[in-house]
Amino acid sequence: MNVQKIHPAVDAGIKAAHEHFSGGVLRCHCTENQVEVKLDSQTMFNHACGCTKCWKPSGALFSLVAVVPKDNVSVIANADKLKVVDENALIRRHACTHCGVHMYGRIENAQHAFYGLDFVHTELSDAEGWSAPGFAAFVSSIIESGAPVSKMADVRERLSDLALTPYDCLSPELMDMLAAHSAKQAGTWQE
Ligand SMILES: [Zn+2]
Ligand SMILES: [Zn+2]
Repeated sequence: MNVQKIHPAVDAGIKAAHEHFSGGVLRCHCTENQVEVKLDSQTMFNHACGCTKCWKPSGALFSLVAVVPKDNVSVIANADKLKVVDENALIRRHACTHCGVHMYGRIENAQHAFYGLDFVHTELSDAEGWSAPGFAAFVSSIIESGAPVSKMADVRERLSDLALTPYDCLSPELMDMLAAHSAKQAGTWQE
């Protein structure tokens, strides 16, 4: 296993986001009749994810995944090729049935802290200027995909070198958002 191969979009250095960037079109990996998903805004919270559910390109240890308000997401071509990967998962990941690429993931549970945000892989767009990945989530989970435990220190060091601070859950900011949402539901919320 090559610990340098975190993801092709970060292995040679992370590209900065462009100010005033306003979105673009994601395309699946099919050579014809590509599924196209238009995003009408910049993405947020882009990060590397080590979980076993997110789509990632072959050879990559991590996926890169960001969120965008679901109202800014529209399928503009070949929607008939999309199918939900796992109907029971919290995030309903809509994948191309031909090439397998995940085009967007949506949370349908209106009670969830992240309801209203879709999960997307902006590497599927030709446009440059998308929000840059800022941390690495669920790092230990790459072991479930076959990464040896003995390599994990090297993986975490590589992530830190890329300024992708490694966490074994989400980032502290996102974990706080989840906990605050729970506190509001439980009535224990304080400003
Ligand atoms: Zn496809
Ligand atoms: Zn993931």
